Amino acid sequence: MSTMNTVGRPTTPNRVESKPATLTGGRGLLQNEHLIFEGDGWGKTGVDLPEPKTDGSDLGDLVRRDPIGLPGLSEPETMRHYVRLSQKNHAIDLAIYPLGSCTMKHNPRLNEKMARLPGFSDIHPLQPTSTVQGALEVMDTLSHWLKTLTGMPAVALSPKAGAHGELCGLMAIRAAHEASGQHEQRRKVLVPTSAHGTNPATAAFVGYTVVEVAQTDDGRVDVADLASKLGEDVAAIMVTNPNTCGLFERDILEISRLTHEAGAYFYCDGANFNAIVGRVRPGDLGVDAMHINLHKTFSTPHGGGGPGAGPVVLSAALAPFAPAPWVVHDADGYRLIEREEDEAAQAFGRLCAFQGQMGMYTRALSYMMSHGSDGLRQVAEDAVLNANYIKARLSDVMSAAFPEGPCMHEALFDDEWLKGTDITTLDFAKAMIDEGFHPMTMYFPLVVHGAMLIEPTETESKQELDRFIHAMRALAEAARAGDVDRFKGAPFHAPMKRLDETRAARSPVLRWTAPEGSNIAAE
Ligand SMILES: *Cc1c(COP(=O)(O)O)cnc(C)c1O
Repeated sequence: MSTMNTVGRPTTPNRVESKPATLTGGRGLLQNEHLIFEGDGWGKTGVDLPEPKTDGSDLGDLVRRDPIGLPGLSEPETMRHYVRLSQKNHAIDLAIYPLGSCTMKHNPRLNEKMARLPGFSDIHPLQPTSTVQGALEVMDTLSHWLKTLTGMPAVALSPKAGAHGELCGLMAIRAAHEASGQHEQRRKVLVPTSAHGTNPATAAFVGYTVVEVAQTDDGRVDVADLASKLGEDVAAIMVTNPNTCGLFERDILEISRLTHEAGAYFYCDGANFNAIVGRVRPGDLGVDAMHINLHKTFSTPHGGGGPGAGPVVLSAALAPFAPAPWVVHDADGYRLIEREEDEAAQAFGRLCAFQGQMGMYTRALSYMMSHGSDGLRQVAEDAVLNANYIKARLSDVMSAAFPEGPCMHEALFDDEWLKGTDITTLDFAKAMIDEGFHPMTMYFPLVVHGAMLIEPTETESKQELDRFIHAMRALAEAARAGDVDRFKGAPFHAPMKRLDETRAARSPVLRWTAPEGSNIAAE
């Protein structure tokens, strides 16, 4: 059997099970690689250090007597170790990373160049502010852009992720209710069913009771249900817009009006800001607090879970409670407001040591300045166009969760189309890995059965989208044709085969131990 790919070259699906395993664990040009502790580099060193001039006696009894027990690798060995490991994983520099809700866009190299300028990368947070005026100017200019793009009067830069930004926003809201003497009475936070898990988790962490708000059949907040739950016991609502179904909340003005009428604050989860940046200002929608994931909308790297940045823009009502520090600018230059006896008297405190993730501020600002305001508007337009292209090209072979009308920046499918095939969303995702594609977000949002949430972002060209669509269509056709084996055991080609996900989540092995029979002591 042979199919045609989009550029007209025939491709022959090859069956894996019949191939012999390789002798070394290598596959194609990919090397097998063990953990750095499992090599035989013990006892040698990759650097040539002179003998210390003293015996270290000023360390008293704390001088180490045993070998330090680190693997010794030369520079090329070290380089190869990490390059080989990197090849076991997916990267945005390799191909589309279609994780819905995550906005995995290209990280421009210009950002990296700017962040590495010594004036930004070689400074210390405790340096006198007179010696870091340029860095403070970057923070101040970034703040200006974030406030301008969102139409909000204040921003707290220091939160280190979206979830940390949610914490910041809800702590500011709690501080505002405390200041007006309403904290004891307002103990609830309303969260729609489709919300990202961090929303209810944050509200609970801050001590609120989470109350769910129903969703309409077309994937939006049920305004009547929201209205019935709003009252004098509600501190805030947390609404994502565009929401996690990839849809714009059409009733957003009514939602914020009802919320304010009840004396509550409107926390907007801004993780999906990429779909509306430059087009809609959340301040105009009545938002009181919103986090912005710089690693989503503004192209800073997602990293391995950090270091990230999730600045929070705040309305005039919440601005006085913003956490320290922040940058101010006067005739004497830039300085940080940090202490409660200064202008930060009402700040609810601090969210982290020092001022947050300087490297991310520099990257985000260089992204913004290189696009300009017109370029950022085009980002939103192209992101939405790309998602709708995917939705349109896959809707005849897969089932769109909300087929009516266009989507925003992500296309959402359910598993209705897999009914009767014995193939699940998880099986389908694993088979995508064999085809060289990172899976989309699965089983989220929870309100859609077997959800497959695809977010291409604006940085994918039509050619790359077509490659992805071709693979998805080919897999969808194989699933419909009953080629169950291709899916059930997948991935066949990846370094790691199908994992026991429950065990991985419930009893993760977090500590390296020396292999049986080895004489290497685990440090
Ligand atoms: C990514 C995301 C978050 C959390 O952001 P982190 O930076 O990962 O902490 C919250 N809400 C939504 C809708 C998201 O997509």
